[in-house]
Amino acid sequence: MLDRLPHHIDPLSFAEKSKQLSGSIAIKDLARLSEILLDRSGDIEINLAFGKDGRLAVIVGEIKANLVLQCQSCLERLELAVDQSFKLGVVSSMEQADRLDSDCEPLLLHAEKISLNELVEDELLLALPDFPRHTEKCVQRENEEIVVEAVENKQARSDNPFSVLAKLKNTGD
Ligand SMILES: [Zn+2]
Repeated sequence: MLDRLPHHIDPLSFAEKSKQLSGSIAIKDLARLSEILLDRSGDIEINLAFGKDGRLAVIVGEIKANLVLQCQSCLERLELAVDQSFKLGVVSSMEQADRLDSDCEPLLLHAEKISLNELVEDELLLALPDFPRHTEKCVQRENEEIVVEAVENKQARSDNPFSVLAKLKNTGD
């Protein structure tokens, strides 16, 4: 069942063949996603079913991953179990995209083949909260000194846009 996943996929041809893809992608292979994670180990599990909805090529998919984000309040680990289901309609223009049913997101095809990793990464990034934070009160917020320390410890990660935001936020407190 777990085939080796192709790097590039041809959605229209796969749809004609009702192809199914199941397998896993290493989190570290997704650069944009890895940038915002505190832990890049582990895999993303994917299940994609290609098919036709009338004349439209569609991809019904499910992506599962356990991701470690950085809480934007305390800058500590925030574990998030993502289980994202989606339906993509393969279109070649914005006009076509506008005509899709509401349960169907457009996948705008610029070339015959697209990167499977990028498709999965785009869907995962959409599934993540814009401002991830613990739902319960973070321990660190109860002690201002520890917050300052945590911010300083995280300065090595200043390339992470989230930590910059969190620093701005903490200085305003
Ligand atoms: Zn927190």
